[in-house]
Amino acid sequence: MGYSNSIRGLYQAQLKEIESAGLFKQERFIHSTQAADIEVEFPAGATVKPAINMCANNYLGMSSHPEVIKAVHAGLDQRGYGMSSVRFICGTQDIHKELERKVTEFLGTEDTILFPSCMDANCGVFEAILTNEDVMISDRLVHASIIDGIRLCSAMHDTFKHSNMEHLEEKLQLHADKRLKVVITDGVFSMDGDTAKLDEMADLCDTYDAMLFVDDSHSSGFIGKTGRGTHEKCGIMGRVDIITTTFGKALGGASGGCVSGRSEIVEMCRQKARPYLFSNTIAPVVVTGVLKVLEILSASTERRDKLETNTEYWRKGLTDAGFVLKEGDTPIVPVMLFNAKLAQDFSRELFNLGIYAIGFFFPVVPKGQARIRTQISAGHDIHHLDKALDAFITVGKKFNILGKSKKEIIDMYGQ
Ligand SMILES: *Cc1c(COP(=O)(O)O)cnc(C)c1O
Repeated sequence: MGYSNSIRGLYQAQLKEIESAGLFKQERFIHSTQAADIEVEFPAGATVKPAINMCANNYLGMSSHPEVIKAVHAGLDQRGYGMSSVRFICGTQDIHKELERKVTEFLGTEDTILFPSCMDANCGVFEAILTNEDVMISDRLVHASIIDGIRLCSAMHDTFKHSNMEHLEEKLQLHADKRLKVVITDGVFSMDGDTAKLDEMADLCDTYDAMLFVDDSHSSGFIGKTGRGTHEKCGIMGRVDIITTTFGKALGGASGGCVSGRSEIVEMCRQKARPYLFSNTIAPVVVTGVLKVLEILSASTERRDKLETNTEYWRKGLTDAGFVLKEGDTPIVPVMLFNAKLAQDFSRELFNLGIYAIGFFFPVVPKGQARIRTQISAGHDIHHLDKALDAFITVGKKFNILGKSKKEIIDMYGQ
């Protein structure tokens, strides 16, 4: 047997190490559609029970929207289930091109290319457009998929301190001699919910002749007055050269992603990006679903407006109750607990009260910054938020952290 006992033992030891460090990720099984109200089995084998979901990326409540489901049924009948091909062989239907046009229109860019996921978009784009004469300058907190894309590209890589524009400017000066420069950031950062300073970044890019790359996965559909993304919020529509985003969050939550931006860059990706060339086309049913989502969001801002109201209500409720939050105005609302075990215990107690919200701790966030990351949705109604608030307050009292400062919480529980 190739898979000897010593190989097995090696992996078993590593898995034990992960477990004893308290870093073992246990999945919860959802027995319902993805929505505000879900049915959850946790731990495995336990009785399935109802819970309010406070940690999905389902920002606009589109994951199980009846009109989307109806459109997908019709799409399934008209274009079938799978394509069994990559795009450039025989995997491009008319609806793939239609979706690329619709995304371009929605984001206000020049052109768009679909990818199987945003992870694939980020892994493919840099290698397709840069060489070892170029430099990529990224914010230190960009998403893991961007880091992987950077690793796959032969261009030089440098970083700037999170959202620190002076540091970015220094780096742009330092790399003035490079052929091409790309400044790389998330639009909204997923762990803290803060927004990149895109207006300042766009100005710096103009001054230093650099391209601007923004991953708007946690923004597309709901950030900005009409939900176009952080470029709309920051008043720089048309000035971001490369936007990547996902259809796996607010835009229906199924799967798929894209690179949208300058037409030459999109064409370079079509010719050269490896996840585009060597991974299967997005399933037609997903394409019809995203088309319907964009149609709904383009017709009315009702859902992103509701999300904004819900978010204000939730932030105010938690603040008034005396929790320490990360400041911000996005639907990502981190409740800071600082200690990893406290975050896990807090999450478990919430679940006992019918609230599903996960604790995050190192290495997902820096050491000493453990938290419950709550995410608000237009799928939530006020009664969901009130019930969740009640549960947070009950558990907050139990752990005696209400009205306590960061220092007081750390003094009690350690970091
Ligand atoms: C979720 C996320 C991705 C990955 O998107 P997928 O389409 O699920 O691969 C990429 N970048 C950021 C910033 C994300 O939050």
